[in-house]
Amino acid sequence: MPERRYKLLFVITHMLFIIVRLVYGQRYKRSHATTQINRVTTQEKVLLGGVAVSYFVPNGFWLFSNRLKFAQLGLRPWMRLSGFFISLASIGFFAWVHKTLGDNWSPTLEIRNQHELIEDGPYATVRHPMYTAIYGYYIGLIPLMNNWFPGLMALLGFTALYVGRVDHEEQLMREQFGAAYEEYAQRTGRLLPRWQPRE
Ligand code: SAH
Repeated sequence: MPERRYKLLFVITHMLFIIVRLVYGQRYKRSHATTQINRVTTQEKVLLGGVAVSYFVPNGFWLFSNRLKFAQLGLRPWMRLSGFFISLASIGFFAWVHKTLGDNWSPTLEIRNQHELIEDGPYATVRHPMYTAIYGYYIGLIPLMNNWFPGLMALLGFTALYVGRVDHEEQLMREQFGAAYEEYAQRTGRLLPRWQPRE
């Protein structure tokens, strides 16, 4: 398959990802659920900027230049297509997570009025399925692009945000939901389901 077809597949997955975000971003803006507590810090803003740069810049180089040749992998077409399907499935999962979280979603750390603790759908086993979906999307890009550089950069940028955010997010949920969140956290994993229930 010619390289430009893989580029098209990447553009398609990228567009789908952006469309899901835009749809729910619009819903967030129009929602009657207003923000009650907002924990956006400067650190969070910097890290969000880092996510954008680490995603867009290397992907742009891969799409529009030959500079990333040093990181090329030499994968077979079926492997590259598997990467495409991993990213696609992750975006499907991402949409499902958004749908389940509904009006409780926000782009940064917030408590909305009438914020509910969601414990069903993907949230029944995992506390941060949206972050899992984003990881899955980036991981799939590595074989799809047949190049480790853009995917790795995106993973590093997102991991910085994840590490800087996840404890604060869980702290915020604990403050809001108390024992209910403690109990919920006992039986769920952070990014993947628990292997076995905690004692
Ligand atoms: N970390 C989650 C949600 C990301 S959106 C995930 O990866 O799926 C971020 C917002 O979701 C936070 O402001 C937090 O208030 C809210 N949130 C996180 N987990 C939640 C849950 N189980 N129920 C309701 N809201 C939740």
